[in-house]
Amino acid sequence: MLARMPLNEYRAKRNFSVSPEPRGKAPVRRKKDLFFCVQKHLASHLHYDFRLEHDGVLLSWAVPKGPSIDPTVKRLAMHVEDHPLEYGEFEGLIPEGYGAGIVMLWDRGTWEPLVDDVAAALKKGDLKLRLDGVKLKGSWALIRTSGGDGRSWLLLKHRDEWAGPLDIAVFAPKSVKSGGYFTDIIEEQAPAIWTSNRAAKSAPGGLTKIVERAIAITEEEKKGALAYARAGGAKREARPAKGAPSARSGSAEATTGASKARSTRRKPGASGRAARSPAAKGRPR
Ligand code: MN
Repeated sequence: MLARMPLNEYRAKRNFSVSPEPRGKAPVRRKKDLFFCVQKHLASHLHYDFRLEHDGVLLSWAVPKGPSIDPTVKRLAMHVEDHPLEYGEFEGLIPEGYGAGIVMLWDRGTWEPLVDDVAAALKKGDLKLRLDGVKLKGSWALIRTSGGDGRSWLLLKHRDEWAGPLDIAVFAPKSVKSGGYFTDIIEEQAPAIWTSNRAAKSAPGGLTKIVERAIAITEEEKKGALAYARAGGAKREARPAKGAPSARSGSAEATTGASKARSTRRKPGASGRAARSPAAKGRPR
């Protein structure tokens, strides 16, 4: 059973005098396209919060490894408390308390249920949906499993033109809101913390470890983008279907990241062959 969790639980977990997260008004029911987002959240563990607008709030699942557009990959998605609708645009630092760390708006867009009755589908534990985000598109499903006290679900991609054997989290690691990495969010929103960490490796508010991890993760992500660029976009054996995000929405980000990384980290031996950018991949040679 998916119990409807009101915003009380969301609010009870947070101290809004120290957290910049929105408190959330009453559920906001709109007659617009339904909103969805994925927030990449570096807290005690890195995870991706997958959120779907429903009945004026954001239904939320924490996906430890992030969504995959590979239809052979099922990703664990732990159902968590509803979040207010306005949380969907949040990006920033949570200095302390519940979820302390960095939230990056990793994807956003609209979603559409592929079932007649969303509430009934949630109750049944089988919600088929279509996403139209910047990175995630096409047909998906959320399927409840028997584990985790009924909170354990699987997020999976159906086979369609938006599926492909591409690690979208590695390929397109950056924010769709501010355009940067975790470290850019720290630098922009908390320059004092950033400077003190760079200089003295000590940030106030218990964020030191988070900042250090953000630096390490960002370095890995730049390497990942570079590896994709060198391999000619998606790995050769992993060519996504025509129209999949590698050739479209995700490309600008990965190209930018890769070319930035290339200019500073070029290794001997890589010079002979110009890396094809992911954007160029889909075009005729
Ligand atoms: Mn989270």
